[in-house]
Amino acid sequence: MSEEIKQPVTAIKGIGEETAALLAELNIFTIEDLLTYLPYRYNDNRLRDLSEVEHDERVTVEGVISSEPSVAFFGRKKSRITVRVMVDKYLVSAVIFNQAYLKNKITLNQPVTITGKWNRHRQQITVSQMQFGNLVDNVQKAQFEPVYSVKGELTVKGLRRFIYLAFNQYGHLLDETLPDDIRRKYRLYSKMTALGALHFPKDAQQLKQARRRMVYEEFLLFQLKMQALRKFEREHSQGISIRYDNEQLKSFIASLPFPLTNAQKRVLSEILHDLKSPFRMNRLLQGDVGSGKTVVAAIALYAAVTSGYQGALMVPTEILAEQHTESLKKMLQPFGVRVELLTGSTKKKQRNIILEGLASGEIRIVIGTHALIQDDVNFHQLGLVITDEQHRFGVEQRRVLREKGENPDTLFMTATPIPRTLAITVFGEMDVSIIDEMPAGRKSIETYWAKPEMLERILQMVEKELQKGRQAYIICPLIEESEKLDVQNAIDVHASLVHYFHNRYSVGLMHGRLPSEEKDHVMKQFSENQIQVLVSTTVVEVGVNVPNATMMVIYDAERFGLSQLHQLRGRVGRGDHQSYCILLADPKSDVGKERMKIMTETTDGFVLSEKDLELRGPGDFFGKKQSGLPEFKVADMVHDYRALETARGDAERLINSEKFWEDDLYLPLRETIEASGILDGEKLD
Ligand code: ADP
Ligand code: MG
Repeated sequence: MSEEIKQPVTAIKGIGEETAALLAELNIFTIEDLLTYLPYRYNDNRLRDLSEVEHDERVTVEGVISSEPSVAFFGRKKSRITVRVMVDKYLVSAVIFNQAYLKNKITLNQPVTITGKWNRHRQQITVSQMQFGNLVDNVQKAQFEPVYSVKGELTVKGLRRFIYLAFNQYGHLLDETLPDDIRRKYRLYSKMTALGALHFPKDAQQLKQARRRMVYEEFLLFQLKMQALRKFEREHSQGISIRYDNEQLKSFIASLPFPLTNAQKRVLSEILHDLKSPFRMNRLLQGDVGSGKTVVAAIALYAAVTSGYQGALMVPTEILAEQHTESLKKMLQPFGVRVELLTGSTKKKQRNIILEGLASGEIRIVIGTHALIQDDVNFHQLGLVITDEQHRFGVEQRRVLREKGENPDTLFMTATPIPRTLAITVFGEMDVSIIDEMPAGRKSIETYWAKPEMLERILQMVEKELQKGRQAYIICPLIEESEKLDVQNAIDVHASLVHYFHNRYSVGLMHGRLPSEEKDHVMKQFSENQIQVLVSTTVVEVGVNVPNATMMVIYDAERFGLSQLHQLRGRVGRGDHQSYCILLADPKSDVGKERMKIMTETTDGFVLSEKDLELRGPGDFFGKKQSGLPEFKVADMVHDYRALETARGDAERLINSEKFWEDDLYLPLRETIEASGILDGEKLD
């Protein structure tokens, strides 16, 4: 490492204490900080053909003045010049605000280069800069003008000058991070060339190459850490080897009311392989709503039980815990397995019995909410931990549960299909199994988008389903950040529907503020068809299974993300009957409209998740709470996903090769892994 570059910025000729203070506000302290402080965007000053320019886009064009300018004054200092300019074959109008003095300079047939915002509808450019003469004459103007984020008195122009000084004096000292073989393989710029081009791009091609190099570097460094973590965890955490009984397992699978799908078989064999191996399993199981993850979990838990271990299944809500308990009991009790439920509302006496049973090992499988990770819950021999709908749990909760046993195998299940790019970044240290096939015979849910004023007709549709003996969910308007208002909405909608279905059908209400016994009671009534219409907030989102429900109406659907809509929709279409989902929405934005449209077009969760990621961006994908997303300076996980995959493959190969750990060629890469603390057993955050 060159130490010179770590000097304070004042070492640069032309930068004094005052400037250093300004730079410090941007967290720029050393020469290296300054050199690697990158533009967040570029002004594109290239000449464009107006037919290709979007409405409201900034553009630079050359043209010839084709009319006398006219000036209008308004207010004291305000003015507007309007003049016609011939740009290629287009006659456009150029509007210049508050620069009345230009009027005398503008003459007919004079060539000009103008930069400004293009109004496509009016064929008009609002000029931010007008230069007389053609661009060729204005050579000093760069095609791409870097724009940096600045604070205080520092201007972009000033910052650019300081970076220029730094680059001239110290640029050659920038250390190369990437080994030659990799750079040659992908024809990547050196670090110095790349940074130089990002600050002072000559043209589009150069900028592109510079970005390509930095994107790859960022991804590679990140993936190296992930892969190192994965390797380290595998080799250093003595896992357990669960020697399950194959015959018992086979007869259990044969007892199921349906044959497993091929996808279920495949993920099951991946999981069983991990169970048997002495490494600790750390696996993510992705499968769309209704793809049948529960039964896979049940088989895996049973496998652990047959070899003398206990299993735990942790879920985010009590309703879900109960449903799982019920279905697992049904499957497993005939095989002599004791399954119990433990949640926050388990009564003290019952709770003590369960705690005892877990400690003695008599209870083989326990299902519960975060109540499972309390301090006083101890296991006799916990071998397998499964969490369902894992994105609802924080990283910390997952870790606590895992530490309940002696390195139990862990499986995280999620019904939120995670786009590949995110899966390999956020869960980069995990192995991933995917159920990409639905059980045979599922009918796809017919989805419609309706305007709110069509509510009356929608209710008639609901009624038609009810007449056939089916049931319906009505999901209430969502008000962000305010559970209280959500609840109020649900109460209002409930009241009006009770009135609407008066004497014909019974309407239940479910929301997050109900005491949990009440929730369970309502849910039970719904699943036993004592209630036909369930008005609810999004608490029914996760996992709930009532196969007779065939109608889902979602109010204010535009307020939900695609993934969440998909989750909600997944509550219907679980039985043999055709199901329907109605999105009541009046989205104002294009993105909102796009969302509704795509919901009506596909029921494939992976397609929706990719689309969601595209529309919302990676930051919002998992919601605000916990994203665990790494931050990249240059790279964009969504648009640069190919590079991400390449880097992941390369990282995996490198980490597992001896050469990587020995050859000096890879020293800079090894140093970044070492600096992250992974090799000392610390965790990546
Ligand atoms: P999810 O993946 O959303 O948790 P579930 O495990 O709740 O899905 O399964 C949804 C429904 O599909 C359940 O009623 C389950 O019994 C049924 N199911 C699961 N696997 C199969 C299969 N291979 N064939 C037919 N039905 C299945
Ligand atoms: Mg499930």
